[in-house]
Amino acid sequence: KKEQLQLLATVEPITKDGVTLNLAANMSSIKELDIALKHGAFGVGLFRTEFLYMDRHSLPTEDEQFEVYKLVAENVGDGSAVIRTLDIGGDKPLDYLPLAEEENPFLGYRAIRICLDNVELFQTQLSAILRASVYGNVKIMYPMISSVEELKQANAILRQAMEDLDRRGIAYNPDIKVGIMIEVPAAVTIADLLAEEADFFSIGTNDLVQYVLAVDRMNEQIAHMYRPFHPAILRMLRMTVDAAHKAGIPVSVCGELAGDERAIPIWLELGIKDLSMSPQSLLRVKHRILNTNAAEAKAEAAACFKLSTVSAIEERLSAFPERGS
Ligand code: PEP
Ligand code: MG
Repeated sequence: KKEQLQLLATVEPITKDGVTLNLAANMSSIKELDIALKHGAFGVGLFRTEFLYMDRHSLPTEDEQFEVYKLVAENVGDGSAVIRTLDIGGDKPLDYLPLAEEENPFLGYRAIRICLDNVELFQTQLSAILRASVYGNVKIMYPMISSVEELKQANAILRQAMEDLDRRGIAYNPDIKVGIMIEVPAAVTIADLLAEEADFFSIGTNDLVQYVLAVDRMNEQIAHMYRPFHPAILRMLRMTVDAAHKAGIPVSVCGELAGDERAIPIWLELGIKDLSMSPQSLLRVKHRILNTNAAEAKAEAAACFKLSTVSAIEERLSAFPERGS
């Protein structure tokens, strides 16, 4: 089975009736680049940079980061390398950046909030990403955006980083695409406003599900309540996609849900073409896409959008495509 799936690495992810999806890889370490390439990833849709900052005693320098981002940029071929800025939080302490213990780390001091407070740290990372942007199709993505102000502040620091590189005479792509994760419910509801300031959206279902359903993604006791196919999530996905399409900006999905074959009809119905997932999921998802009829899948998903319970939605999606074909 595994050998058979491996044969799909160079096959295009296209449905039986000719709809093409793009499958990119999520990466949380540099080791995963080989697996992503071996599994035929079309670029890196989410490069988690946290590992560069962890298990060490000082901040990674601009040069150190640049080397890593450059390596990713040079290896994505016709795809792109979406580098997400630091998404560290109270649950992942760093020796050299003491963060207070928090009652609710997921609602606390994390990600873009820390970066906007630590301009030097943030600008160093942005400079390193900018420098890598001349070696491949690099994009910047901010995590945990919950307001237009945050996005504007982040972009102001990005402009500072560009001006600083200009002064140093270092090359970068001045037209680099800058997008945001949609993973906080507030961002979904103001997606139309955020779309005016962002070049693209990537929906982070891991956090979105925990915040929309008020279910801690790490808490075993309530793991059974962590349900990505909740009607509230489907509605949030639709709102985000509608806002992106209206504004004419691309929207992708990079949470774990992108690697769940049952969700394929949802993506087809919403018109989402770009998915980014853990490299281990790529071939499995591609196999399902190759065996899917998009017209039937869309009808199935449209029916799911009308259902009122998670279990009814899950049952229908789990029974597809057997039901449809
Ligand atoms: C997400 O929240 O869906 C996501 C992709 O980011 P992370 O899992 O790194 O929080
Ligand atoms: Mg997240």
